Amino acid sequence: MKAVILSGPNNFAPGEMEKPHIGDNDILLEMKKAAICGTDIRILEGTKTKGVRYPSVIGHEMCGLICEVGKNVNEFKVGDKVAIANVIPCNSCHSCLTGRENACMNRKAIGYEFDGGFAEYVLIPEIAIESGNVVKLPEYVSFEEGALIEPLSCCIRGLKNAGTGFNDTVLIVGAGPIGLMHLQLSKIVGSKQVIVSEPIESRRVKAEKLGADIVVDPTKENLEEIINRETNGLGVDIIIMAIGVPAIINSTLKLCKKGGTVNLFAGFAGKGESTIEVNTIHYNEINVNGSTAYKREDYLQAADMVISGKINLKEIITHTYKLEEFQDAYEVCKSGEGLKVMIEP
Ligand SMILES: [Zn+2]
Ligand SMILES: [Zn+2]
Repeated sequence: MKAVILSGPNNFAPGEMEKPHIGDNDILLEMKKAAICGTDIRILEGTKTKGVRYPSVIGHEMCGLICEVGKNVNEFKVGDKVAIANVIPCNSCHSCLTGRENACMNRKAIGYEFDGGFAEYVLIPEIAIESGNVVKLPEYVSFEEGALIEPLSCCIRGLKNAGTGFNDTVLIVGAGPIGLMHLQLSKIVGSKQVIVSEPIESRRVKAEKLGADIVVDPTKENLEEIINRETNGLGVDIIIMAIGVPAIINSTLKLCKKGGTVNLFAGFAGKGESTIEVNTIHYNEINVNGSTAYKREDYLQAADMVISGKINLKEIITHTYKLEEFQDAYEVCKSGEGLKVMIEP
């Protein structure tokens, strides 16, 4: 089968490999659409190596049709349209037992420990089926939307960690695919005002289209002045960092209201080191938290939102490439010109 084979940092190319052979308890997914995530880019360029195998096939946002079913698998049949929650928690570590399965200490994931979605076929192992990580989708949900349930579920986890709610003023830093999902989720939970800061014009236009109340170009406008004006000098209730740039953390913290929350949603490149004036956090009693992956509960809620048409993911998809054109897809992602870039067989 065709697949994008990752042999090392900055060393990946489309090629041929053996089609996976399923066991009696596994299923084989015929991949229809797999989306490239910011994390994939960091893996490809070697700034993220934790949990990454060489050689391997990455890609963890995927949707397709079941094309083979092991003889002991009863709940799925050939032809089912399914989306895959790629993170499989162990259900027995301290994190899992204390309600943080998303931060499982022994997690296994498709696209990491198991070969992922940038291939014609993906083996979905027994452990993923048993954990409830395979979700059937109705015919009317597109493969593209199905693939984006995964990043949406991560955003739902971030939303819950941020605690965004009724009447909040929210600042979203970065209007890439993740920022645009956070924007919509913030509106859905009742925010009063969502301000989006984004240097790329096409992304600001998208943010406006998807309901941002104010869009700011931080390279030309003074974000701090705008926030002060909009909040009577108080600062915003919630800040979502949807871009992994350590250098802007310090200035961003200063935009938060006393007692507000800053969610460091994005993964930060390299070690993610940043110099911050910690007194900003101390005197203003700012809550700073993170967000990693999703709980299966978040995934099911994301799937439900997509199935019931409560979120606009179509606007976030800008490009589609064949597996063979993976290099072009990678370049578009890196340039910031594209939003969600899809790979298809
Ligand atoms: Zn992802
Ligand atoms: Zn665990």
